Parts: sequence; structure tokens; C-alpha cells
Amino acid sequence: MAVKMPKKVTLMVGETAEVKAVVKPTTATHQRADWGVDDTSVVSLSGFGFTNRFVEGTIHGTSPGVATITATIKEFDVYGSTKNMQTFTDTCIVRVVRPRPIIYLSPEFMAKGPGAGNYGNERPKMEELADKLHDYLQNQGYNSINGRRDIDELTAAAKDAFKRTEESNTLEADLHIALHSNAYNGIATRPVTFYTLPGTFTYSSANVNGLTHVVTNTVSQNQSNEGKALSESIQESLFTLYKESFPNATDRGVISNEFIELRAVNAVSSYVEVAFHDNLNDANWIMDNMSEITQTIGDGIINYIQNAD
Ligand SMILES: [Zn+2]
Repeated sequence: MAVKMPKKVTLMVGETAEVKAVVKPTTATHQRADWGVDDTSVVSLSGFGFTNRFVEGTIHGTSPGVATITATIKEFDVYGSTKNMQTFTDTCIVRVVRPRPIIYLSPEFMAKGPGAGNYGNERPKMEELADKLHDYLQNQGYNSINGRRDIDELTAAAKDAFKRTEESNTLEADLHIALHSNAYNGIATRPVTFYTLPGTFTYSSANVNGLTHVVTNTVSQNQSNEGKALSESIQESLFTLYKESFPNATDRGVISNEFIELRAVNAVSSYVEVAFHDNLNDANWIMDNMSEITQTIGDGIINYIQNAD
């Protein structure tokens, strides 16, 4: 005798599926059955039913993660007695994923600054922008993830620089958006958005406090093309807003770059430099237009998604 159920099921959060564990042979009698799940925060079970031939019920995807369902059949020699009882089990791996596309937001994690005027440092400003953008995307019905914030600036040049790209890959993000304000010579101005060319890239970090990290990743031609399209959509939206304040400005457009955040992720990636925080006019523009900038970047992302459908 044996019990058999599907090896793997993938559900989106909120989705349900029927799962059946078949008992063989069909002539088996004197059985008792049960099923359970090892992580009820990921998958919940309901409608458990049992006949001589199968165990069945409904599984619900509750939150992103992986859980194992186990179906157990006990066959008795003599009904009701545990003497010579045999136990048969089978398992099914259930993966619960977020609705697509998953948009991963990664604001600057180094202090960088201070900027001109009252701008302060780049990290808190970009974290503020990421928080607002996260809310904006969620409110529009899109699935946004706010990148982890537990990045230590002292070790960020080494291992911590990879925490965001690792998280983006682990969570299987579809779009990876790095959020930055720029700095150069105090004179340079305007938004610019970066994408990556295709290829296989290896990054080795500096050794800081004994921490080093190496990552190799391949960016496909399609991923690069999509990253460019995403970047163009964001840049067009952002620059249109910028021109409302600076009518004579010319567009820097999108440029390819080798940033880790563009190349160490499996997602379609874009690296946004909102404007230059070491230029007073640009720094003030960012501070005075935080909500508008949030919306224009959000709309640039959404326009890209809608055109890609
Ligand atoms: Zn930056």
C-alpha cells in the first residue's frame, strides 16, 4: 500500500487549490488518515476529507514562502488495533509567491553627503522616497517590496553592499529599482537613469573588517532591453516633471552603467538618480517635490508594466 500526492504546487498569495492524495491499492481497507502542514503561516488547510481511496482537501496560500504538506495513511491489520499497524506518508512542497510583477525598491544605503542647503544625507532622503513610492505603488494595486534597511554603512563597501541584490533575487523580484540622488561638482544638474548592457559580470568587494564578497551574474539581452525600456519610461516621466521647474533644461536621458545593483540582480533593473544633491537648485527641487517625484517615478514604472503586458 502507498499514498501518493503531487510533488509540487505553486500558489499565489490568496489563491487556493484542491490537493488529493491517492491511496493504492484501491482495495486497501481499515485505514485512518490525516494531513498536516509544517508552516501554517504560509499555507493553511481546510475541507479535509477521507475515503478508502484518497485524502483530499483545500490548501490556501497565506503568505510568501515554502511549506510542506504531509498526508498520512495508517493501515491496520485488525480494525481499531495498532498491532502490526503500517504508516504510509507522502509529501507535497507548496510554494506561495506574491502576485506579479514584484517591484523591489532599493534606496541608497551609504550616508553620502551632506547635500546642498538643508538636504542632509542621501540615505535618509532616498529611504523617505522609497517609503513614499512603496505606498504609492501599493495604493495603485502593484506589488512593491521595500528593500531591507539593516545595512551597516561601515561594512557596506564589503558584504552589506550585496544584501539588497541578494534579497531581490531571493524574493524573485521582477523589477529592481535603485533610488539615488547624484553628486559631482556642485554644478551638474538634472535627472539621469541608468540600465545595464548584457553580459556575465563578477563583482569582488573590498575587504572591510574581514568581510569580502564575490558575486557572478549573467544579464541576458532581453533583460538588458527591458531594463532600458523601464529606465526610459522612468526618465521620461521624471524629466517631464523636472522641466516644469527648469524649462530650459535638456534631458540627460538613459545611460548604460556597471553598477552592482543593475548587474547582480535577476530582475529587470533600473538605477535612478533623481537629481544632484550637491547642487542647491536640484537639492531644493528634490525636497520641494518629494510627492510629485514619487508619483512620476511610480507612473514611469506603471507605464512600463502596462506597455510590457
Ligand atoms: Zn547614491
